[in-house]
Amino acid sequence: MTNAERCAERWRTMPQSRRDAYNALKRQRRQLLKEKHLREGVRLDGEKVCQSCKQRLPKTAFFFNRTKTDGLSNGCKGCAISDVARRRLGREEYKALARSQAKRARDNLSDTYVRNLLGPAGRAHQLEELVPAKRAQLIVKRQLKEGAGR
Ligand SMILES: [Zn+2]
Repeated sequence: MTNAERCAERWRTMPQSRRDAYNALKRQRRQLLKEKHLREGVRLDGEKVCQSCKQRLPKTAFFFNRTKTDGLSNGCKGCAISDVARRRLGREEYKALARSQAKRARDNLSDTYVRNLLGPAGRAHQLEELVPAKRAQLIVKRQLKEGAGR
């Protein structure tokens, strides 16, 4: 059993009154932190180690984060930005994949593609027998279009 699992287990088996007390403490701590940051501001002198790239960097290289004791986030700005970039890249890859799948469906006149063209009833599989007919129609249409293009 890992430590995290032990913690989760203890939290689950705890009486509700105790859990409420813990939550109240957490809320209080958050409030105190907020007041401290408002009162003293965030100290930007000195250095801090980034938890992501483990580099020792000046505190100005960290974004503000009110939930942290020192008012600064755990990771440096560079790591935070590259995280965002990585996620965005993942999203682009996902979109490209979806686009290529849609193109393949269009080229092969897949069942799903033809069914979608038949509208809501087609999507609900009520017009199952119309799918081959619609597909044939699309093939003829495409051939005509190709003929006109030449
Ligand atoms: Zn970093």
